[in-house]
Amino acid sequence: MNISANEKRLVSTSPAETWQIAGDLIASLPRSAVIALHGDLGAGKTCFVQGIAKSLGIDKPVTSPTFTVINEYRGETRDLFHIDLYRLNSMADIMAIGFEDYVNGDGITAVEWAERAGELMPASTVQVRIESTANLDERIITISQTGVNP
Ligand code: ADP
Ligand code: MG
Repeated sequence: MNISANEKRLVSTSPAETWQIAGDLIASLPRSAVIALHGDLGAGKTCFVQGIAKSLGIDKPVTSPTFTVINEYRGETRDLFHIDLYRLNSMADIMAIGFEDYVNGDGITAVEWAERAGELMPASTVQVRIESTANLDERIITISQTGVNP
């Protein structure tokens, strides 16, 4: 098993650096991709999605869809779907928002608290884990993708 064969571990020292890391990731992905974001509250998941939005040419401010569940943005050449599953507690609730259509559709879909969706996440999902450190603005960002070209 090559579970961590393509795992990248990066250090960010500011929100701007996290935006840059997110932009670099988008540049390396195909037109349509699903990105799962993991990390505690305040880790920087929404900050990472702000970087994705910038790289897609989206000018609108990206805010957490904690209450709205899904925010959609029109990018220059492709759309961004920002989903936060934090408040959805059952698989039925997740399916009711049309989750499967988003993750199997066109464009970039970024999912906070993606672990709640379990097996509804596609095998090719890019996994992004953001962890705080003892230094205030420092984050460890681990990016991995499994299930591609098995
Ligand atoms: P989450 O969505 O994981 O709950 P947010 O992105 O909403 O987290 O909040 C992250 C907070 O941490 C923001 O206030 C952001 O400015 C701050 N922050 C400080 N340093 C960083 C960094 N290196 N990367 C990302 N966010 C950072
Ligand atoms: Mg958030």
